[in-house]
Amino acid sequence: MRPHPHGHRNVDSSSLRVSSRLAPFPMKFTPSIRSLGRCLIIGVLLVTAACGADATKLKVLIVDGQNNHAWATTTPLLKTILEQTGRFTVDVATAPAAKPAAPRLPANATAAQKADHETKVQRVATEQAEYQKTIAARWAAWRPKFANYAVVVSNYNGERWPDDVRAAFETYVKNGGGFVSYHAANNAFPEWAEYNAMIGLGGWGGRNEKSGPYLRLRAASWVKDPTPGPGGGHGAQHEFLVEARAEHPITAGLPAQWMHAKDELYHGLRGPAENVTVLASALSDKTNEHEPMLMVIPYGQGRVFHTALGHAIDAVSGLGFQVTFVRGTEWAATGRVTLPAPAAAALPADKAALRPVTAN
Ligand code: ZN
Repeated sequence: MRPHPHGHRNVDSSSLRVSSRLAPFPMKFTPSIRSLGRCLIIGVLLVTAACGADATKLKVLIVDGQNNHAWATTTPLLKTILEQTGRFTVDVATAPAAKPAAPRLPANATAAQKADHETKVQRVATEQAEYQKTIAARWAAWRPKFANYAVVVSNYNGERWPDDVRAAFETYVKNGGGFVSYHAANNAFPEWAEYNAMIGLGGWGGRNEKSGPYLRLRAASWVKDPTPGPGGGHGAQHEFLVEARAEHPITAGLPAQWMHAKDELYHGLRGPAENVTVLASALSDKTNEHEPMLMVIPYGQGRVFHTALGHAIDAVSGLGFQVTFVRGTEWAATGRVTLPAPAAAALPADKAALRPVTAN
């Protein structure tokens, strides 16, 4: 694999420092003089070219549509968080809806609950029949144009993608496309080897020692632990400390430790774990291990940023989540980070810094 032209050594730390002095997060991305110049030249050559601010923005595609999480709530928040930086334009590719789940009757159900259940069973049976009738055509019509984007963010955890969508996604990342795996996206596709190579570690879906090792912090190094056992778990949601584990443009300028907003602390993720750089971890009281939370993984010429954070609106409201998400997305897209780190005091270790977001 040849080295990527935009390795992280190329990050312009001087501009990072300047920008963070100029404005608090989220600061507007200011196109450089050079890119404006390029834009003007292109504008002269192509008279009809739209040469507004959008011409310099990075194109992001969020993929969603199925998830055991509230994707319809979180996708608009992720989109807003990205767009508010001024650095991105965001499109969404929503996959066909999952097969409607059969309703469950609670134990010791009352007569009213039983009657209600019967109604639901009939309604879902109709919905499932409709699903069966249309699902093949709906998948056949779902062909995200990955190659049109600098980076793809997955908020998807559901049914298998059609083979040619899988192949297109593999080719896209292999050829240098960016990929961001967001929270439960690392639960998806336990049987898809290339996807698991991209995310490094995953959880649930029957993952176990056959999926690959755990990554365990031993004497300041991350080592592969092949101990048999399930992949993926979490306790009750709570605020937890996120601790930096590597120097990287995504986390450059952030405090070594910051308190993350209420979230699930994923533990025991496992996978191929090849070439994973753990940028930050959190100590799980379930495993008593430092669990990888933020990771980067090379895949072909592409870059993957994997954030295990972001279960629901509480977690997504955390400033630390937002800062690492937007900077990780920028890095996955370009190999560089220009979005500034907030002042260290804005991301304290003793209490979670919140920045509530309302979807645009
Ligand atoms: Zn979750």
